[in-house]
Formats: sequence, structure tokens, C-alpha cells
Amino acid sequence: MIRILSIFSLFVFGTCGSPVSLTKPYSPPQAAGRQLEQPKNIILMIGDGMGISQISAGLYSNHNKLNLERCPVVGLIKTHSADDLVTDSAAGGTAFATGKKTRNGSVGVGKNGQPHKSILEIAEANGLMSGLVVTCEITHATPACFYAHQKSRNKHQDIAMDFINSEVDIFFGGGKRYFIERWDEKNLLTDLKWKGFKVMDMEKDFTSIKLGDNEKLACFTGMDQPARQLKGRTYLADATEFTIKELDTRSKKGFFMMVEGSQIDWGGHANDTDYIVSELLDFDKTVGKVLNFAAKDKETLVIITADHETGGLGVNKGSEMKMGELKTGYTTGGHTAAMVPVFAYGPGAETFSGIYENTAIFDKMMKAYGFSK
Ligand code: MG
Ligand code: ZN
Repeated sequence: MIRILSIFSLFVFGTCGSPVSLTKPYSPPQAAGRQLEQPKNIILMIGDGMGISQISAGLYSNHNKLNLERCPVVGLIKTHSADDLVTDSAAGGTAFATGKKTRNGSVGVGKNGQPHKSILEIAEANGLMSGLVVTCEITHATPACFYAHQKSRNKHQDIAMDFINSEVDIFFGGGKRYFIERWDEKNLLTDLKWKGFKVMDMEKDFTSIKLGDNEKLACFTGMDQPARQLKGRTYLADATEFTIKELDTRSKKGFFMMVEGSQIDWGGHANDTDYIVSELLDFDKTVGKVLNFAAKDKETLVIITADHETGGLGVNKGSEMKMGELKTGYTTGGHTAAMVPVFAYGPGAETFSGIYENTAIFDKMMKAYGFSK
């Protein structure tokens, strides 16, 4: 009898009068009773180090308005890695890219160093196209997780070689040095050209980029790290729009794209609020462009999240709602274990509500595309 009662007590009645099971994960009403809509394209946008406080700092510095607010679905992810509650960007990016928790420092490999296929590689194997647009080196931890498989994120030259062996169609990012100044004395720009890439430099060439029908694009935005937004870097939104347009017109089966606001994290490490806010707003402007495309396209799922929080940022009493008038405090020059938000828009977005592991982002993307593992 106790058992029967306890089972019965697992059902409660919501305000609309229908029983809700507490034993099963909640599925949103719009998803019940029909197939989930399937997107053709997925654009994953990662604000590195973008916790709730970073978003709040950007919001209040921008007159209480962000493009992020246009997303109807919000969730939270648990960001811990396989060996530490506080993740780094390598383990965090690997979780998104491959669905596996790994050790801090590892890119695209599991706990024991075994390589795992990334969502980008799986998309390519299924006939989709792919693009990466970042404001760090293209060989830096976050983008590397989508095409490279290395135990250490510090092996930039090996990661550049992994890029040559990948199927990425378009990228914008820094780190040209790792393709040309190498211990093996190879010039990987030659390899890129052999693979059908047009190799360009953002500063000289961006306004004149025209790609041939089957031409790929490697657009370097610096020998090392691209400049910070406050020092004149402006390309994130433009390069993202360019890449979307190219992939959308050229891909028949759809595309996967990862866009990273890489330097929100660097502002956090520096405990520099102006740095964080300027990078956050640059990222949010790009979010606006991506959502504009998705609103028109109707076949694109947009996911916006962070790998972790950086700085233990607090927006404190005495702050004012305008640029440069925030009173902030920090608990660390490193990352923290705080959960971070996930925003979603477009077909399949409803599956991103709730609280879940960072690895579930991969699982949900796989499901949205209809790929089997
Ligand atoms: Mg990063
Ligand atoms: Zn960091």
C-alpha cells in the first residue's frame, strides 16, 4: 500500500488539470505529440568565459538591452571537466564538440587520450559544410576542439597540422604563425592551397573576398592573437555574416558553424570590466546578425552558450546603467565552476531548456540534425 501510494504521489496536477509525471524529464508542451522540428543548419556560438555576470555587465552597459534576449529558450549547463570542478576551455570545448568530458588541457580526445569525432567532423561526413569564426588564434583551444585531436592544447603546430587534415570549409582566425614558422619547416599555407583554400589576410583582403564555386577560405586575422575590440578589431560580425552567406548558398544539405567571442574570457582573466563588456557587446552584436539570418531562414538552430565563467565577476552596489559606470569585483584571475547559460532559437530550440551537463549540447545537436552515433 505504501508503495502504491508513493507511486501515486509521483503524479501531481498542474494548474491546467493534467497530470505531470515527476519521474520523467519535463518535455515542453510544444514538443508533445509531434515530431520535433529538424534544423538544416546549426550555428553554435560560444562566448568564452561568458557567465551570467558577464552578460549582466554587458546588458546594463548597453541600456538594459541585448540581442540575446531574443532567444525564447534558456537553459543552464554544468561545466566541470573530467578532472576538475573548474574546467578550462579545452575540456569545455571538447564537451560541446564531442559529447565527452575530458581532462583540462585536452582537445578532441577523451580522458585517456583517445580521439573522438566532433560534431563538425560528423556533419562533414554527412555531406554538410562547415565554418569557424573566432577572435583568437584558429589553433586556440575552443576552435581546435572542433577539428583537432591532441592531448595538449599547447601544441599549436600539431593542431595546425590537424587543421590541414580536417574538412573545414571556411575559417576566420589568428595564429598564422603556426602554419608558417614550424619546427618541421613546412609551409602549411601551401598545403591549404593544395586543399582548395584561398588563403587571405583579413586586414588586406576582406573587402575584396570573392570565392569560386568550390573554393574554400582560410582568412587569417593575425600572426598571433587578433587585437581586442577596444584596440580596433571589428571583424567578428562581418566575418560571421560572410561565412553564413557563403555556406548557406553553397551547401545543399546544410551546414555547421561555430562562432566564438574568444576574448570575453581574456577580459575576465585580466579582471578588466571594460575589456569584458566591449567583447561581450561585440559578441552580442554578432548574435543579432545570426538571429536575423535564422529568423528569415527558418531552418537554422542557433545555440549560444559559454564554456565556463571567468573571474568570479560580481556587479556590485553603486553601479549605474551606462557604459563604464559599473562597480565590479572579482574572486579570481582564473575560471570558476559556476553553471553558465544556454540560449536557443529556431527549430529544435525547445530541447535546450532545463539544467544539464555541457556534454548534452553535443547530444542535442546530434539529435537535432538526426545523426546517429
Ligand atoms: Mg576560447
Ligand atoms: Zn580562460
